[in-house]
Amino acid sequence: MLKITKFESEILEVNQETPSVKTIRFSVPEEFEFNPGQFVAFILDIDGKEERRFYSIAKHGKGYIEAAINKVKNGRVSPIIHNWKKEDKVKIHGPLGMFVLKKDAFEKENIFIATGTGVAPFAAMIPKLLSGTDKKVILLAGYKHENEIIYDKFFSDLNKNNKNFEYHAVISRPENPQYKGSIGRVQSLIENHLPHNFAGDVYLCGLYEMIKDVEQMLIQKGIAKERIIFERYD
Ligand SMILES: Cc1cc2nc3c(=O)[nH]c(=O)nc-3n(C[C@H](O)[C@H](O)[C@H](O)COP(=O)(O)OP(=O)(O)OC[C@H]3O[C@@H](n4cnc5c(N)ncnc54)[C@H](O)[C@@H]3O)c2cc1C
Repeated sequence: MLKITKFESEILEVNQETPSVKTIRFSVPEEFEFNPGQFVAFILDIDGKEERRFYSIAKHGKGYIEAAINKVKNGRVSPIIHNWKKEDKVKIHGPLGMFVLKKDAFEKENIFIATGTGVAPFAAMIPKLLSGTDKKVILLAGYKHENEIIYDKFFSDLNKNNKNFEYHAVISRPENPQYKGSIGRVQSLIENHLPHNFAGDVYLCGLYEMIKDVEQMLIQKGIAKERIIFERYD
């Protein structure tokens, strides 16, 4: 069992990844351990009321974890998090959650499907998986606009360095009429890239509407419910 702790963390780095998403690195105690796919809670005091919001651990390294945080329009907490700066101190509780690779994940093919910042836990899960399997691993990621794609270079580099890893991103509403990438919803990527007779598991992450739709679509394609594992953000 991993130890779950509450600790004060310092912000080490803030990057404006896209117009609406910041990636933020937080210090963690030396003994902090997590399972890729897990998240942490940020505990804030807003006008004397405790607010907690959860953020997937996307990347990690010696003494830090990184989260990718979307600024939700009219959201209560995420716009405040977007004002956090380097050296600010924040309260963290974690690691939390059960959305992790199944024990037998290394022995089968796996597909990861996300929209928006739902791709964040996959930035931790997929490298772990690739380090121990030569079975096919596919990531399908959907975004609204072309400037909202996150961790694109990270996943493209993984794709270059692992011949068993496929990465496809799709944009539903490109702002540039000349946009040359794939256009459509993440569901269209499933139509195009779900391997024939796929026998592995599917991991979904994002907002509930996408999860519900995609789950239904996968079940219709013959993938049993037990093979669909998901984390919903709302
Ligand atoms: C297990 C878990 C992990 C999460 N990991 C992440 C993460 O890695 N990155 C991240 O940006 N968010 C993540 N979230 C969502 C996050 O915890 C907050 O719910 C989100 O930041 C909105 O908080 P808020 O106070 O600004 O909005 P609130 O005032 O609480 O309003 C909630 C509204 O925000 C919408 N919403 C929630 N999350 C998102 C999102 N990511 N994109 C667009 N709309 C959203 C909901 O549909 C809801 O309508 C996660 C949620 C859970 C449960």
